[in-house]
Amino acid sequence: MSPSVPAPLIGAIEAGGTKFVLALARGPTEVLERTRLSTGAPDSTLEACVHWFRQAQQRHGAMQAMGIASFGPLDLNSLSPGYGNISTTPKPGWQHTPLLRHLRAAFAVPMAIDTDVNAAALAESRWGAAIGLDPTVYITVGTGIGGGVLAHGSLLHGALHPEIGHLMVPPPEDAAPNPGGQCPFHKQCVEGYASGTAIEKRWGKPAPELPPDHPAWTGVARTLAYACANLCLTLSPRKIILGGGVMHTDGLLAQTRQFLQTNLNGYLQIPELQDQLETFLSEPGLGEHSGLLGAMALGMDALKAQSQH
Ligand code: ZN
Repeated sequence: MSPSVPAPLIGAIEAGGTKFVLALARGPTEVLERTRLSTGAPDSTLEACVHWFRQAQQRHGAMQAMGIASFGPLDLNSLSPGYGNISTTPKPGWQHTPLLRHLRAAFAVPMAIDTDVNAAALAESRWGAAIGLDPTVYITVGTGIGGGVLAHGSLLHGALHPEIGHLMVPPPEDAAPNPGGQCPFHKQCVEGYASGTAIEKRWGKPAPELPPDHPAWTGVARTLAYACANLCLTLSPRKIILGGGVMHTDGLLAQTRQFLQTNLNGYLQIPELQDQLETFLSEPGLGEHSGLLGAMALGMDALKAQSQH
Protein backbone atom coordinates (compact mmCIF):
# COMPACT_ATOMS: atom_id res chain seq x y z
CA MET A 1 0.00 0.00 0.00
CA SER A 2 1.37 3.42 -0.90
CA PRO A 3 1.30 5.97 1.88
CA SER A 4 -1.56 8.43 1.45
CA VAL A 5 -0.66 11.96 0.41
CA PRO A 6 -1.49 14.42 3.19
CA ALA A 7 -4.08 17.09 2.37
CA PRO A 8 -2.64 20.54 1.54
CA LEU A 9 -1.63 22.74 4.45
CA ILE A 10 -3.96 25.75 4.67
CA GLY A 11 -3.51 28.93 6.71
CA ALA A 12 -6.70 30.37 8.16
CA ILE A 13 -7.22 33.79 9.73
CA GLU A 14 -10.38 34.88 11.49
CA ALA A 15 -9.85 38.61 11.88
CA GLY A 16 -12.07 40.14 14.54
CA GLY A 17 -12.30 43.51 16.21
CA THR A 18 -11.09 42.15 19.54
CA LYS A 19 -9.08 39.08 18.53
CA PHE A 20 -7.45 37.38 15.57
CA VAL A 21 -7.64 33.58 15.51
CA LEU A 22 -5.02 31.87 13.38
CA ALA A 23 -4.72 28.22 12.39
CA LEU A 24 -2.66 25.98 10.22
CA ALA A 25 -4.69 22.96 9.16
CA ARG A 26 -5.18 20.20 6.64
CA GLY A 27 -8.95 20.29 7.02
CA PRO A 28 -11.67 20.98 9.56
CA THR A 29 -10.81 17.91 11.61
CA GLU A 30 -7.05 18.24 11.21
CA VAL A 31 -6.05 21.54 12.78
CA LEU A 32 -2.30 21.21 13.43
CA GLU A 33 -1.93 24.38 15.43
CA ARG A 34 -3.97 27.43 16.34
CA THR A 35 -3.53 30.57 18.35
CA ARG A 36 -5.25 33.83 19.17
CA LEU A 37 -3.88 37.35 19.26
CA SER A 38 -5.49 40.47 20.70
CA THR A 39 -6.35 42.98 17.99
CA GLY A 40 -4.07 45.98 18.43
CA ALA A 41 -2.98 48.53 15.86
CA PRO A 42 -3.17 47.20 12.27
CA ASP A 43 0.56 47.06 11.50
CA SER A 44 1.60 45.34 14.71
CA THR A 45 -1.34 42.91 14.58
CA LEU A 46 -0.64 41.90 10.98
CA GLU A 47 3.09 41.59 11.66
CA ALA A 48 2.28 39.29 14.59
CA CYS A 49 0.14 37.16 12.23
CA VAL A 50 2.94 36.93 9.68
CA HIS A 51 5.44 36.00 12.39
CA TRP A 52 3.17 33.25 13.76
CA PHE A 53 2.60 31.68 10.34
CA ARG A 54 6.35 31.76 9.58
CA GLN A 55 7.09 29.99 12.85
CA ALA A 56 4.22 27.52 12.44
CA GLN A 57 5.44 26.60 8.95
CA GLN A 58 8.84 25.74 10.40
CA ARG A 59 7.10 23.26 12.68
CA HIS A 60 4.60 21.79 10.19
CA GLY A 61 5.80 22.48 6.64
CA ALA A 62 4.96 24.94 3.90
CA MET A 63 1.51 26.44 3.76
CA GLN A 64 -0.09 26.04 0.33
CA ALA A 65 -2.92 28.56 0.52
CA MET A 66 -4.50 31.03 2.91
CA GLY A 67 -8.04 32.14 3.66
CA ILE A 68 -9.02 35.28 5.54
CA ALA A 69 -12.39 35.84 7.18
CA SER A 70 -12.51 39.41 8.41
CA PHE A 71 -14.67 41.95 10.15
CA GLY A 72 -15.75 44.64 7.74
CA PRO A 73 -16.91 46.38 5.81
CA LEU A 74 -14.45 45.04 3.22
CA ASP A 75 -13.72 46.02 -0.35
CA LEU A 76 -14.45 42.76 -2.19
CA ASN A 77 -14.62 44.15 -5.72
CA SER A 78 -11.75 42.28 -7.39
CA LEU A 79 -11.34 45.12 -9.93
CA SER A 80 -10.97 47.80 -7.25
CA PRO A 81 -7.52 49.13 -6.32
CA GLY A 82 -8.53 48.66 -2.69
CA TYR A 83 -9.53 44.99 -3.10
CA GLY A 84 -9.09 43.14 0.17
CA ASN A 85 -8.99 46.32 2.27
CA ILE A 86 -11.01 46.87 5.38
CA SER A 87 -12.92 49.99 4.35
CA THR A 88 -15.04 52.23 6.57
CA THR A 89 -14.98 50.34 9.86
CA PRO A 90 -15.71 52.36 12.99
CA LYS A 91 -12.81 50.51 14.65
CA PRO A 92 -10.19 53.21 15.39
CA GLY A 93 -7.06 52.98 13.24
CA TRP A 94 -8.38 50.18 11.01
CA GLN A 95 -10.06 52.27 8.31
CA HIS A 96 -8.64 51.45 4.87
CA THR A 97 -6.26 48.77 6.19
CA PRO A 98 -4.84 46.77 3.25
CA LEU A 99 -5.34 43.41 4.93
CA LEU A 100 -4.99 41.19 1.87
CA ARG A 101 -2.09 43.17 0.37
CA HIS A 102 -0.13 42.97 3.63
CA LEU A 103 -0.46 39.17 3.78
CA ARG A 104 0.22 38.73 0.07
CA ALA A 105 3.47 40.63 0.50
CA ALA A 106 4.51 38.09 3.13
CA PHE A 107 3.30 34.80 1.62
CA ALA A 108 3.33 33.87 -2.07
CA VAL A 109 0.42 31.41 -1.93
CA PRO A 110 -3.14 31.56 -3.33
CA MET A 111 -5.28 33.63 -0.99
CA ALA A 112 -8.94 34.48 -0.61
CA ILE A 113 -10.68 36.98 1.61
CA ASP A 114 -14.30 37.46 2.57
CA THR A 115 -16.36 38.79 5.44
CA ASP A 116 -16.31 36.71 8.62
CA VAL A 117 -20.04 36.08 8.27
CA ASN A 118 -19.92 35.12 4.58
CA ALA A 119 -17.09 32.74 5.49
CA ALA A 120 -19.17 31.32 8.33
CA ALA A 121 -22.05 30.69 5.91
CA LEU A 122 -19.61 28.82 3.66
CA ALA A 123 -18.28 26.66 6.50
CA GLU A 124 -21.77 25.87 7.77
CA SER A 125 -22.87 24.84 4.28
CA ARG A 126 -19.82 22.64 3.81
CA TRP A 127 -19.40 21.02 7.21
CA GLY A 128 -22.05 22.33 9.60
CA ALA A 129 -25.78 22.84 9.99
CA ALA A 130 -26.52 23.89 6.39
CA ILE A 131 -25.18 21.01 4.30
CA GLY A 132 -27.22 20.82 1.09
CA LEU A 133 -29.34 23.84 2.06
CA ASP A 134 -29.00 26.68 -0.44
CA PRO A 135 -29.52 29.61 -0.05
CA THR A 136 -28.16 29.76 3.49
CA VAL A 137 -27.99 32.86 5.68
CA TYR A 138 -25.60 33.06 8.64
CA ILE A 139 -26.19 35.81 11.20
CA THR A 140 -24.01 36.54 14.20
CA VAL A 141 -25.50 38.41 17.15
CA GLY A 142 -22.70 39.65 19.39
CA THR A 143 -21.35 43.10 20.25
CA GLY A 144 -22.48 43.92 16.70
CA ILE A 145 -24.70 42.06 14.25
CA GLY A 146 -23.63 40.85 10.82
CA GLY A 147 -24.84 38.37 8.26
CA GLY A 148 -23.53 36.48 5.27
CA VAL A 149 -25.31 34.74 2.43
CA LEU A 150 -24.44 31.71 0.35
CA ALA A 151 -26.65 31.42 -2.72
CA HIS A 152 -26.40 29.03 -5.68
CA GLY A 153 -23.11 27.73 -4.26
CA SER A 154 -21.41 31.14 -4.08
CA LEU A 155 -21.00 33.76 -1.41
CA LEU A 156 -23.07 36.83 -2.18
CA HIS A 157 -21.24 40.01 -3.16
CA GLY A 158 -22.37 42.87 -5.30
CA ALA A 159 -21.90 46.58 -4.97
CA LEU A 160 -20.63 45.61 -1.50
CA HIS A 161 -21.70 42.56 0.47
CA PRO A 162 -24.77 41.90 2.61
CA GLU A 163 -25.08 44.17 5.66
CA ILE A 164 -27.85 42.26 7.41
CA GLY A 165 -27.12 43.89 10.78
CA HIS A 166 -28.51 47.15 9.44
CA LEU A 167 -31.80 45.87 8.04
CA MET A 168 -34.45 48.42 8.99
CA VAL A 169 -36.99 47.15 11.50
CA PRO A 170 -39.80 48.60 13.62
CA PRO A 171 -39.02 49.48 17.26
CA PRO A 172 -39.22 46.46 19.61
CA GLU A 173 -42.18 47.87 21.58
CA ASP A 174 -40.52 47.28 24.92
CA ALA A 175 -40.11 49.38 28.03
CA ALA A 176 -36.36 50.00 27.81
CA PRO A 177 -35.30 53.00 29.91
CA ASN A 178 -33.37 54.28 26.88
CA PRO A 179 -35.79 53.18 24.15
CA GLY A 180 -34.16 54.45 20.95
CA GLY A 181 -32.09 52.47 18.50
CA GLN A 182 -28.38 52.63 19.26
CA CYS A 183 -26.79 52.49 15.80
CA PRO A 184 -24.96 55.74 15.02
CA PHE A 185 -26.12 55.53 11.39
CA HIS A 186 -29.79 54.51 11.66
CA LYS A 187 -32.64 55.17 14.05
CA GLN A 188 -34.26 51.79 13.54
CA CYS A 189 -31.99 48.92 12.58
CA VAL A 190 -31.43 45.40 13.89
CA GLU A 191 -28.00 46.13 15.32
CA GLY A 192 -29.30 49.25 17.04
CA TYR A 193 -31.85 47.22 19.01
CA ALA A 194 -30.54 43.67 19.36
CA SER A 195 -26.72 43.70 19.49
CA GLY A 196 -25.00 43.20 22.82
CA THR A 197 -23.88 46.84 22.71
CA ALA A 198 -27.43 48.08 22.02
CA ILE A 199 -28.96 45.89 24.73
CA GLU A 200 -26.55 47.34 27.30
CA LYS A 201 -27.19 50.93 26.21
CA ARG A 202 -30.95 50.50 26.10
CA TRP A 203 -31.30 48.64 29.41
CA GLY A 204 -28.32 50.03 31.35
CA LYS A 205 -26.80 46.62 32.07
CA PRO A 206 -24.52 44.29 30.10
CA ALA A 207 -26.55 41.67 28.21
CA PRO A 208 -25.00 38.69 30.07
CA GLU A 209 -26.31 40.17 33.36
CA LEU A 210 -29.93 40.18 32.18
CA PRO A 211 -31.68 36.94 33.24
CA PRO A 212 -33.45 34.91 30.52
CA ASP A 213 -36.88 36.06 31.78
CA HIS A 214 -35.92 39.76 31.61
CA PRO A 215 -38.31 41.77 29.40
CA ALA A 216 -35.35 42.90 27.25
CA TRP A 217 -35.26 39.52 25.52
CA THR A 218 -38.77 39.75 24.13
CA GLY A 219 -37.78 42.90 22.24
CA VAL A 220 -34.54 41.31 21.07
CA ALA A 221 -36.42 38.26 19.78
CA ARG A 222 -38.99 40.46 18.07
CA THR A 223 -36.25 42.48 16.37
CA LEU A 224 -34.34 39.40 15.19
CA ALA A 225 -37.58 37.88 13.93
CA TYR A 226 -38.27 40.97 11.80
CA ALA A 227 -34.81 40.59 10.26
CA CYS A 228 -35.43 36.89 9.59
CA ALA A 229 -38.86 37.62 8.09
CA ASN A 230 -37.33 40.18 5.72
CA LEU A 231 -34.66 37.65 4.72
CA CYS A 232 -37.33 34.99 4.09
CA LEU A 233 -39.18 37.45 1.90
CA THR A 234 -36.17 38.63 -0.11
CA LEU A 235 -33.79 35.66 -0.36
CA SER A 236 -36.06 32.67 0.08
CA PRO A 237 -33.44 30.87 2.18
CA ARG A 238 -33.60 27.17 2.99
CA LYS A 239 -31.72 27.83 6.23
CA ILE A 240 -31.06 30.72 8.61
CA ILE A 241 -28.41 30.24 11.29
CA LEU A 242 -28.27 32.52 14.32
CA GLY A 243 -24.86 32.45 16.04
CA GLY A 244 -22.89 34.75 18.32
CA GLY A 245 -22.67 35.24 22.07
CA VAL A 246 -26.06 36.93 22.57
CA MET A 247 -27.81 33.85 21.11
CA HIS A 248 -26.58 31.78 24.08
CA THR A 249 -29.38 33.35 26.13
CA ASP A 250 -31.81 30.60 27.20
CA GLY A 251 -35.03 30.69 25.23
CA LEU A 252 -34.03 33.51 22.83
CA LEU A 253 -33.87 31.33 19.73
CA ALA A 254 -37.22 29.67 20.51
CA GLN A 255 -38.85 33.05 21.08
CA THR A 256 -37.39 34.35 17.80
CA ARG A 257 -38.94 31.38 15.96
CA GLN A 258 -42.34 32.19 17.46
CA PHE A 259 -42.16 35.85 16.43
CA LEU A 260 -41.02 34.86 12.94
CA GLN A 261 -44.17 32.82 12.51
CA THR A 262 -46.28 35.61 13.97
CA ASN A 263 -44.68 38.22 11.68
CA LEU A 264 -45.19 36.21 8.50
CA ASN A 265 -48.71 35.28 9.59
CA GLY A 266 -49.00 32.19 7.40
CA TYR A 267 -48.16 34.06 4.21
CA LEU A 268 -45.30 31.76 3.15
CA GLN A 269 -46.77 28.26 2.95
CA ILE A 270 -43.50 26.32 3.15
CA PRO A 271 -42.53 23.46 5.46
CA GLU A 272 -39.49 25.45 6.64
CA LEU A 273 -41.84 27.82 8.47
CA GLN A 274 -44.14 25.13 9.76
CA ASP A 275 -43.10 21.68 10.95
CA GLN A 276 -39.44 22.28 10.01
CA LEU A 277 -39.11 25.61 11.80
CA GLU A 278 -36.72 24.26 14.46
CA THR A 279 -34.19 23.14 11.87
CA PHE A 280 -34.85 26.06 9.50
CA LEU A 281 -33.94 28.69 12.11
CA SER A 282 -31.19 27.14 14.21
CA GLU A 283 -27.91 27.63 16.01
CA PRO A 284 -24.63 26.99 14.13
CA GLY A 285 -23.55 23.39 13.61
CA LEU A 286 -19.91 24.37 14.10
CA GLY A 287 -20.40 26.29 17.34
CA GLU A 288 -17.89 29.10 17.75
CA HIS A 289 -15.71 27.79 14.94
CA SER A 290 -17.75 28.79 11.87
CA GLY A 291 -15.61 31.86 11.13
CA LEU A 292 -12.22 30.16 11.42
CA LEU A 293 -13.39 27.11 9.47
CA GLY A 294 -14.85 29.51 6.90
CA ALA A 295 -11.41 31.06 6.48
CA MET A 296 -10.05 27.56 5.96
CA ALA A 297 -12.72 26.81 3.34
CA LEU A 298 -11.81 30.06 1.54
CA GLY A 299 -8.16 29.00 1.50
CA MET A 300 -9.03 25.53 0.19
CA ASP A 301 -11.14 27.09 -2.58
CA ALA A 302 -8.36 29.54 -3.49
CA LEU A 303 -5.97 26.62 -3.93
CA LYS A 304 -8.49 24.70 -6.02
CA ALA A 305 -9.20 27.75 -8.20
CA GLN A 306 -5.51 28.19 -8.89
CA SER A 307 -4.93 24.55 -9.74
CA GLN A 308 -7.75 24.75 -12.30
CA HIS A 309 -6.02 27.59 -14.18
ZN1 ZN B 1 -27.59 50.57 11.61
